Amino acid sequence: MVKLQTAPESVVFLGAGASFASDFSKPTMRSFFDAEHEKYGNLARLLTDFYGTRPRTEWNLEEILGYIDLSSTRLARWDPRRVLLTDDRHARAYGECLAYVDERLGVDPDSVCERHARLFRSLAPRDSVVSLNYDLIADQALLRVDADRVGATNPKRRSRAMKPASLLAAPNLMAGFVPGFIGDEFEEGFLLKLHGSLDWITCSNEQCPAASDIFRRTGSEIPGQIAGSPCRRCGSALRTVLVPPVASKRALEHHQLQLQWSIAYRELSRARTWVVVGVSLAPSDFDVRWLLRVSAAREFDSGLVVHVVNPSRDARQQFRELLGPAGVSLVEHDGMDSFLVAK
Ligand SMILES: [Zn+2]
Repeated sequence: MVKLQTAPESVVFLGAGASFASDFSKPTMRSFFDAEHEKYGNLARLLTDFYGTRPRTEWNLEEILGYIDLSSTRLARWDPRRVLLTDDRHARAYGECLAYVDERLGVDPDSVCERHARLFRSLAPRDSVVSLNYDLIADQALLRVDADRVGATNPKRRSRAMKPASLLAAPNLMAGFVPGFIGDEFEEGFLLKLHGSLDWITCSNEQCPAASDIFRRTGSEIPGQIAGSPCRRCGSALRTVLVPPVASKRALEHHQLQLQWSIAYRELSRARTWVVVGVSLAPSDFDVRWLLRVSAAREFDSGLVVHVVNPSRDARQQFRELLGPAGVSLVEHDGMDSFLVAK
């Protein structure tokens, strides 16, 4: 008898607004930059060149990551002479930008956001969390909630927050590589991070064999895996894995990222309830819009209910436009607190 994984009842889908509404009040992509960015000279110069006299409150992290990424991938082929002049500057600014993002979004590893924890306690163990956020707020809250749930029996290994580790690096088994899920990977839900994570690292040298892999910086059984230290294979500096919001090929650049998106699709398309917190759907965000729409469109009427939790009326309207035609029942909430009270 082939064992098939059961379907989740609910999936929580988190955007930057969830981290903004968290106990840590993290900035969203818009108005991301504060005065501390000036410590990073190359980044500060690039931002001033790019935005000119526009006020800092309008500087957008996604726009800058996308600009640098497209410049380095496209100009390398279209205008190599210009790349010689700008590439090094861009590379240094990009490295500094990742360090600044880490500093700006970092939270104390022992702190847990009570709102996130309350949200996750309302989930069954088989339910999943999908996040677009780079920060570790959901990871830490889920780790705490799952540890409380499973008690003293190896709580870390049993947590959905640790699932990314086994999805990023295949478990080391006596039998060698095993392509399918094993053991309790079947039993419980997932935490899936579609745009990368502050605690994922890879090699910055695209020619290096290690550049096709992603490693987890924290929670790993092997400490000391940090951005900036040399890659064991080639000596290039290790870098944080954040996915710039550009062409879809980026999301599929690493096979581990493809796996995150593929499982997110499976979880979303089988769940009967979604709770979408703090997600703003930019028209250019083709990947996320596609994922949500294709997962909502079911062959048979599934009675999918989507709770859209967002203080912005415009953001809620975007969901009505995207998912309404798929026959979804939308329930709107103007914030995390009012959603948690209504639960
Ligand atoms: Zn390397």
